[in-house]
Amino acid sequence: MTDTPKYRGLRQRLVKELRSKGIKDERILSAFIDIPRHHFLERAFAEWAYKDVAFPIDADQTISQPYTVAMQTTLLDVQKGHKVLEIGTGSGFQACVLHYLGCKVYTIERQKLLFDKTSQLLNRIGFTGVRTLFGDGFEGAPRFAPFDRIIVTAGASELPFKLIDQLKTGGIMVIPFGDSDSQDMIRITKSEDGTLTRENFGTYRFVPFLKGVNLH
Ligand code: SAH
Repeated sequence: MTDTPKYRGLRQRLVKELRSKGIKDERILSAFIDIPRHHFLERAFAEWAYKDVAFPIDADQTISQPYTVAMQTTLLDVQKGHKVLEIGTGSGFQACVLHYLGCKVYTIERQKLLFDKTSQLLNRIGFTGVRTLFGDGFEGAPRFAPFDRIIVTAGASELPFKLIDQLKTGGIMVIPFGDSDSQDMIRITKSEDGTLTRENFGTYRFVPFLKGVNLH
């Protein structure tokens, strides 16, 4: 699937909408201009890529709403060169935004089907620097720890302490936390003396953060 002036125009419009909803970081807005988001949805639904809504992908999962991706990325406060762990690869779009911002990205998916499809997609569209991992995100990625930043893109009903352990001091984790109907967007900061501070940034709705893997 190629990029076209039509899709570029739709991206300009989406970015205008994100600005009007309060997203200010120009680097993040540029990611939405430059990354052809329609590659991350089934071809027949390509135009849905540029509406500010969540949309179904394989394995009964969703690609997060653009506003949610922009918000989580804002809260994560990444710098070039940061090592970032994402839990919930899904379509791969959020991982590509972080890569675009100059981060070294590791992303874990528990659905084998999505892991396979998205790993192939990222190679095909040139995001070969994103390291995709198949596994249970509750375990994190101890081989590559510690991380400057951790972003969870599924709704957690308990806090994943193994992930907090894999965060550097001074590191930040952004995680939607609550019950299955709605979650609060929580930012956890690990201070130099190891204590954790917790801030709340409003209500969202994500697919659940589930334990174990699904091989089908
Ligand atoms: N970041 C994704 C959002 C995908 S939805 C995107 O940009 O498209 C959340 C994803 O989290 C789903 O694909 C789901 O399968 C995955 N997930 C849920 N629990 C998980 C776990 N324990 N480990 C890894 N991935 C998990």
